[in-house]
Amino acid sequence: MKKGITEEIEDVLLDVLKERVRQLGKFGHQRHKNPGVWLAILGEEFGEVCQAAGPVMGLGTGKPTDADDLYTELIQVAAVAVAWAEQIAEERGQTNVKP
Ligand SMILES: [Mg+2]
Repeated sequence: MKKGITEEIEDVLLDVLKERVRQLGKFGHQRHKNPGVWLAILGEEFGEVCQAAGPVMGLGTGKPTDADDLYTELIQVAAVAVAWAEQIAEERGQTNVKP
């Protein structure tokens, strides 16, 4: 049976949550005073999205890369964005999480 749009959104957000938890386990509770650090992390992940999207668009560079799954790379970008948003929410006092 075909899923509805809400269920599809839930599935993708669940994958983002799983990736966020994976990143938390791998890198710990990351907080950066300099937003440039977050930009570098997000930029690196966005670069992998571009690498994975290249062949889909017929624009492969031939450069070897591990970033070959566009869905996975997009989920990773979203999870990094969530981590940065968590920090901003903490700084604004919008969460109960202690830095
Ligand atoms: Mg990635």
